[in-house]
Amino acid sequence: MYRCKNLQLTALVLGLTLVAFSLPTNALAQGAKEKSTGKSKSIRGKDLPAVPGVSDYASKNFTLRTDMPVAEAKELLTRLETMIVLVARYFGKPNSQIIEMNVVKDPNIWPPNSIDPDAINSIQSGGGITLSVTQFQRSSTGQKQAIAAKSIVWAVADRGTPQHEAVHAYCHQTFGRTGPTWYSEGMAELGQYWKEKEDGVNIHEGVLKYLKSQEPKELTEIVASGQQTGDSWQNYSWRWALCHLLAANPNYASRFKPLGLQLLNDQQTSFEAVYGPMAKEINFEYNFFLTHLDQGYRADLCSWDWKAKFTRLKGTGSAQSKIDAMRGWQPARVLVKEGDKLAITCKGEWQLSKSGEKLTADGDADGNGKLVGILFQDYRLSEPFDLGATCQWEAPAEGELFVRCRDDWSSIADNSGTVTVKIKVGE
Ligand SMILES: [Zn+2]
Repeated sequence: MYRCKNLQLTALVLGLTLVAFSLPTNALAQGAKEKSTGKSKSIRGKDLPAVPGVSDYASKNFTLRTDMPVAEAKELLTRLETMIVLVARYFGKPNSQIIEMNVVKDPNIWPPNSIDPDAINSIQSGGGITLSVTQFQRSSTGQKQAIAAKSIVWAVADRGTPQHEAVHAYCHQTFGRTGPTWYSEGMAELGQYWKEKEDGVNIHEGVLKYLKSQEPKELTEIVASGQQTGDSWQNYSWRWALCHLLAANPNYASRFKPLGLQLLNDQQTSFEAVYGPMAKEINFEYNFFLTHLDQGYRADLCSWDWKAKFTRLKGTGSAQSKIDAMRGWQPARVLVKEGDKLAITCKGEWQLSKSGEKLTADGDADGNGKLVGILFQDYRLSEPFDLGATCQWEAPAEGELFVRCRDDWSSIADNSGTVTVKIKVGE
């Protein structure tokens, strides 16, 4: 775990610009016109003499100056290249400018003045910093449009920091900004963990333990304005949780990407403007996500079905639903009042792993694979209860009935099979 700083403060821009782009000070003094040449003259200076123990590497999208051993440096570049493809694909814009990375394993190897003075604190405290300069132009509608941007990354040589910072650098160089703190840091954390063909949660163990041990932080607190970059790894954990949920859960993902692009393009919008009308649903799913959070948890497979219709059975009426073993709670389409009696019959089989035995909705001897239920009422859930392939059940309370195939929440993705659940009025 680490702290990151992602700076594009005016003072910093001026400082950097003075050093790097040699602009006349009177141009800098104009403030709003944060000018730089954007001609990507290297801040770290390619003309610097070779430093013993510090080497330069290059790949398609990155240059890397580091004191890491050759094999580690190459492995990092491979990881960065894989990640930048995923990040660029997500945002729909290819990376158009080399990202300059400086990754420090042992600061003592780096000679005096070889580490950017603005990065020294971050490196010494075991974190990273992305130093950016951006040239803006006001459009006819008064919007600030970034016309050139350059980022320099400094990071310690741990597992996640260089990747986290590289996401900031991509956003800066591609959009001229990284969005509000919750989004900027949440997405950088997300990017750090992005892997090809991996949709499950896959985070630092310390972050996981922390999130599981805490009362969920209020969403309004996570997205509040006026937050500082580099504040604490705990805050970064909450930002990750929110961004992961919004990016992965299909109920929110389709609005999350345009929201992000609008934030990155400085258009008038906010988390509240986009998700305000569905605040109760998000809150419910956010709490649910944190309750079941684990490595491998699939927010996409456990998304809640808000559109299902529920009816109270009467007389000879019945309800039927197909329940997938590889999904979370799914609507049984039956609304119950306390004391209602239902008769449940299931057809079909499912498996809890690729090579697992085929099970009916009665499950195995340990109860895994059994059909279980839960009641949803006013955005609250009852305790789950056992059902089974053929059973009579009496509702303990009022609510909408949801069912699923019992399995560890973090390992439902390898389940297969569907069971048809038919419900009638019971005796
Ligand atoms: Zn960051």
